Amino acid sequence: MIRVNENYSKIKPTYLFAEIAHRVAARQKASPDAKIIRLGIGDVTEPLAPSVVEAMHRAVDDEGGRENFHGYGPEQGYAFLREKIADVDFARCGIDIKADEILVSDGAKCDCGNIQELFAADTKIAVGDPVYPVYVDTNVMAGRLDIELLPCIAENGFVPRPEGCRADVVYLCYPNNPTGAVATKAQLQEWVDWANAGKRLLIFDAAYEAFIRTPGIPHSIYECEGARTCAIEMRSYSKTAGFTGIRCGYTVVPEDLAAYDGAGNPVALKPMWTRRQTTKFNGASYITQRGAEAVYSERGIAETRATIDFYLGNAKLIREAFEKFGYKVAGGVDSPYVWVDVKGDSWAFFDRMLVEANVVTTPGAGFGKAGEGYARISAFNSRENVIEALDRFGKVL
Ligand code: PLP
Repeated sequence: MIRVNENYSKIKPTYLFAEIAHRVAARQKASPDAKIIRLGIGDVTEPLAPSVVEAMHRAVDDEGGRENFHGYGPEQGYAFLREKIADVDFARCGIDIKADEILVSDGAKCDCGNIQELFAADTKIAVGDPVYPVYVDTNVMAGRLDIELLPCIAENGFVPRPEGCRADVVYLCYPNNPTGAVATKAQLQEWVDWANAGKRLLIFDAAYEAFIRTPGIPHSIYECEGARTCAIEMRSYSKTAGFTGIRCGYTVVPEDLAAYDGAGNPVALKPMWTRRQTTKFNGASYITQRGAEAVYSERGIAETRATIDFYLGNAKLIREAFEKFGYKVAGGVDSPYVWVDVKGDSWAFFDRMLVEANVVTTPGAGFGKAGEGYARISAFNSRENVIEALDRFGKVL
């Protein structure tokens, strides 16, 4: 008799954004003429940078000819991209990460979800609350049901402290999804010191690092001393360069990083992650990786930065508008997400905004218990739609 993985019954039956899509579809059906504006899901709206488009066109031509045709690429990613990442994202920022410590993938979601395969079944996991649901769901699917929740609340500036944390592996995400909060170097250093002191591991999700504009806020966990021995970092071109539909990201696993076997002997994680990827993944496409490479060209850097500045401009408008409406807000400064204290039930706020303003938000409760009472408003939309949505919010609120 075929048996199911019963851990699947322990996660919420639908992914948060599927539930939102369901309610939005119902609203549209009930009111077919309503022009619904989506400030919910964190999907980009602006086109790819011209330098990226040109690079991908050239790559298509490569694939259409004999001379530069590429079949299967290296599972870890092409050297041309890994070397650019090591140079621009790390060496130029004074960070010691080598190209062969970088593994290119088809995005951070898969890597965040898959990384837990490297750890023993009884590994204790901790995540922030509220949290990007993938960290929790993938661990629950693997049978790790007892996940420690670290409250990220207004009182701690939405950044938890390691004191008292019992976990072996902690997921940290800054700039944060959903709260939009950033962590200072001192706060991250505290986590790094704690991890190193107890042979623990940090999984640092830096998917939104490109939104950081405030000087001194770390873009990488490796800006902290000692992080090479206790941290894995994930990055994504999704929000950095509008690649949500193209799919590319990478994970950094430093050579110095180890976990421990049953006898307490260190086992290097980089060969394990490499083995995992080379076994279960066949690489991001050549065309995609040529596009990602172009993000690091002089033009690519300027063009992608301009697009992020545009989204940050939206975030500022959202933040200021909600402050004017009399709401407490966090985020929206070095982040595309504004985290609004809605002074009540977050799904009720979601439904009210959907029906009365025809604007989609994301209920904070969908990200965890500590998200109750909040809404996440995303800055990913056209300026026109953001202004229109804020006008509608103003009328309702
Ligand atoms: N990590 C966080 C915190 C995210 O918010 C997202 C996307 O929304 C991802 C990872 C996934 O990124 P990707 O599109 O590269 O899979």
